[in-house]
Amino acid sequence: MSASFDVLVIGAGPGGYVAAIRAAQLGLRVGLVDDFLGKDGKPAFGGTCLNVGCIPSKALLDSSRQFHNLTHTFKDHGISASGAAIDVPTMIARKDKVVKQMTGGITQLLKHNKVTTFAGRGKLLKDRQVEVTGHDGTVSVLDATNVILAAGSVPIAIPGVVFDHEYVLDNASALDLSAVPARFGVIGAGVIGCEMGSVWSRLGSKVTILEAMPEFLAAVDPDCSKLAFREFKKQGLDIRLGAKVQSATVVDGEVQVRYLDAKGEEQLLVVDKLLCAVGRRAASAGLLAEDCGVKLDARGRVEVDDHLRTSVPGVYGIGDLVAGPMLAHKASEEGVMVAELIAGHAVHLNHDTIPWVIYTEPEVAWVGKTEPELKAAGVPYKIGTFPFAALGRAHAMNETAGLIKIIAHADTDRLLGVHMVGANVSEMIGECVVAMEFHGSAEDLARIVHAHPTLSEGIHEAALAVDKRALHRAN
Ligand code: FAD
Ligand code: AMP
Repeated sequence: MSASFDVLVIGAGPGGYVAAIRAAQLGLRVGLVDDFLGKDGKPAFGGTCLNVGCIPSKALLDSSRQFHNLTHTFKDHGISASGAAIDVPTMIARKDKVVKQMTGGITQLLKHNKVTTFAGRGKLLKDRQVEVTGHDGTVSVLDATNVILAAGSVPIAIPGVVFDHEYVLDNASALDLSAVPARFGVIGAGVIGCEMGSVWSRLGSKVTILEAMPEFLAAVDPDCSKLAFREFKKQGLDIRLGAKVQSATVVDGEVQVRYLDAKGEEQLLVVDKLLCAVGRRAASAGLLAEDCGVKLDARGRVEVDDHLRTSVPGVYGIGDLVAGPMLAHKASEEGVMVAELIAGHAVHLNHDTIPWVIYTEPEVAWVGKTEPELKAAGVPYKIGTFPFAALGRAHAMNETAGLIKIIAHADTDRLLGVHMVGANVSEMIGECVVAMEFHGSAEDLARIVHAHPTLSEGIHEAALAVDKRALHRAN
C-alpha cells in the first residue's frame, strides 16, 4: 500500500496529535502513525502523556490526596469518618477510565479533523518516505511532503537495575499496582519520583527516595525546593540525598537496593516495590533508517534548529524527541508551531516562558529564571516573597505551607522569574506566565486588582514586596 500526505506525523503524543490536528485545520492532508497499545490491546492515541504519564499520574495523585485528606486533615474541619479504606483496584480502574476517556476523545478529534491514522511503528526512510509496520507485522510505505518526528521519550534504566515490571517498575508499571506496598522505594527525586512517591505514601506505604544529587530538586529555586523538602519530610517521605544507586536485586519477593550514601559508604535498602525514575531519553532508537539523513545529538535526540527543522529539508522534530524541557505543553506548542510553519505562517515559540509544575502537596510551579541562574549570569535582580501563612484564604483552606517568590530586574523591574510552592500554584502560575509573556514588570502585577480572598493575592503581595511595600507582612 502507498499513500501520499502533505504532512505525516510519527508519534501521537501531545506533540504529534496536536501537530496533526493543527495541520488538518490548516487544510493539509495529514497522516498520523503511532504504535501505542492501550491496556485493552487496542491503539490508544495520546502518547506517554495520556496513557502512562501526565493524566494517569494526576488521577492517582487526586485519589490518594482524597484518601489522605479523609484520614489526616478532615478531622481539623470537624469531619470524622470511621473505617476509611483504600480499594486499590477501584482506584486503578478509575484511573484507567480517565485514560480511556481521554484517548478516546483524541481518536474522535482526529476523525473529526480527517486525520488518517495508522496503528504501528513508523520509520523514516530517505526522501521523506515512512515505512509503517503494523501490529500484525504488515509493512507499508507512505510518502509525504513533510514529516514531523514526534516519537517522544522512554524511561532510562541505570546499570544494575533491570525493569521486571513486577518488583522493579518504570513510570508505566508504577501506575498499575494491585495493592499498597508496605515499603515503596524510588530511585530519583525528580518530578516523577516525587509525584509517585507521594501517591503511595499517602496511601500508607513507607516511601524512601534515593537521589544521587546532593541537592533536592536542583532545577527549582532553592527557597521553594527547601520548603517543599521540609513539607515532604513532614508527610513521611524519607528522601536520602547524595545516594547513588548501584544495583537492585529481587530476592524472595523483596527488592534489595544497594547504594553509596553521601559519605561514599555502601548501604542497603529493602523494599517491596522499586520505581526507577532517573529520567527519560529520546525515543530515537529504530525511528530513523541509516540513510534518511536526520542527525542526532550526543544524547540521541533529533537535532533541530530554532524552527524545529532537522538536517533534512521537510523533516521536523518536536517534543521529548528534541532538546528542551520534557513537558507535554512544550511538545504541543512545538507541534502547533511546525504545523503552522509548514502551512506558510510566521511562527514563534518563547521557550523562556514555559511553566513547570510538580503536582505534589504542596505543589511546586515556576516560570523563568531561578535566583542561582541569575546570580551565575551576573544579572542584577531584586526579590519579593510572600508566605501562604499570611493569606486569609490559605488559612480558610487549611493550606498554609507555601511561598511565592518574584524576581525582577534590579534596574528595569521586568519580571525575570516567578517561583511558587503551595496549594493550587499549578493554576496560579498561569497569571505569571501571561505577565512575563507580555514583558511585564513586578509593578504591573502589583497594580492588578486580585480578588479577595484568594491565594492569588500572594502574587500581588510578592510583587509589592519587590518594592518593599507588601501590605500584609513586615517588609
Ligand atoms: P510522547 O507523549 O512520548 O508520545 C510519543 C508517541 O509516539 C507514543 O505514543 C509512542 O508510543 C509513539 N512512538 C514512538 N516511536 C514510534 C515509532 N517509531 N512509530 C510510531 N509511534 C512511535 N509533562 C507535563 O507537562 N505535565 C505532567 O504532569 C507530566 N507528568 C508526567 C508523568 C509521568 C509519569 C511521565 C512519564 C511523564 C510526564 N510528563 C508530564 C511528560 C510528558 O508526558 C511528556 O513531556 C510528553 O508526553 C511528551 O510528548 P511527545 O508528544 O513528545 O511524546
Ligand atoms: P527527572 O530528570 O526529573 O526525571 O529526575 C531524575 C532524577 O534521578 C535526577 O534528580 C537524578 O539526579 C536522579 N538519578 C539519576 N541517576 C541516579 C542514581 N543512580 N541513583 C539515584 N538517583 C539518580
